[in-house]
Amino acid sequence: MPELPEVEIVRRFLEKSTLNQKITKITVFNQKSLDADLSKIIGQKIIKFSRQGKQLSAHLSNKLILLFHLKMTGQLIYVPLSSKGEARREGDFVFGHPTKDMLTSSLPNKSTRVVFCFSPLVKEGTQGGILYFNDQRKFGWIKLFSQKDLTEFQSGLGVDLLDDEFTFLYFQNQISPTSRPIKSVLLDQSKFAGIGNIYANDALFLAGIHPSAPSNQISLSRLKKLHRSLLQIINESISHGGSTAKDQKYLRPDGTSGTHQFHFYVYQKAGKPCPNCQTPVQRIKLSSRGTFFCPRCQKL
Ligand SMILES: [Zn+2]
Repeated sequence: MPELPEVEIVRRFLEKSTLNQKITKITVFNQKSLDADLSKIIGQKIIKFSRQGKQLSAHLSNKLILLFHLKMTGQLIYVPLSSKGEARREGDFVFGHPTKDMLTSSLPNKSTRVVFCFSPLVKEGTQGGILYFNDQRKFGWIKLFSQKDLTEFQSGLGVDLLDDEFTFLYFQNQISPTSRPIKSVLLDQSKFAGIGNIYANDALFLAGIHPSAPSNQISLSRLKKLHRSLLQIINESISHGGSTAKDQKYLRPDGTSGTHQFHFYVYQKAGKPCPNCQTPVQRIKLSSRGTFFCPRCQKL
């Protein structure tokens, strides 16, 4: 499942490739994936992208906002037009969700739910292209909002980790009053927008905190370390292009995989040696999510 770093990579990529290009055509293969009045989108340009946690906003020139949530298996794949106006070029590396014809890597494929066409702006030298919203499991969605409605829609979301408001004081105020297991609190999107299972596991490992530890019993110094570890791990992942876990569901918009999965500390490493002390990493279930930790470095 794409988390904050993966959505941030998508945001940065799309900002480079689709900004100020006009949306000329939209094809919706699955109504629930984009349920909006298309006439309010077609003809508009995207003038800005922003992100709150795992939600990506494309701000349109008519001040409406297209909000994307990739959920479990959503992908945004961008294929630029060639100089001849064709969407596929020899040597392009664009995969969608693995299918039997994956080697031909043709898009749209059977997981493609929505297609946006962008026209080239000859004057400004932009290229034009096609943006595919693929979503195997169909939990993802795209919605159209006014700024006012979007603010209301996102009012329940906590502070984004890359926001200046993610201070240690904010962090401590969310964690310290509750006796819930620390990992469950980290995953609570109403407190922190964008932390998912991968980064919660690895940040707790870096801070030496057991995932089940009651939040109100964690020492101040460990809590400070956890705040730093979260920022460290999110920034490491962004610099690695995000994590493409074993399921291959997350891809960058050019169809390539992220590489942070080669830098996981304990996530998905059950039975493998702890990077600090070589003790085998353990896996438990916590709030029905796979939870990984070193029983020696992260004592309860
Ligand atoms: Zn260890």
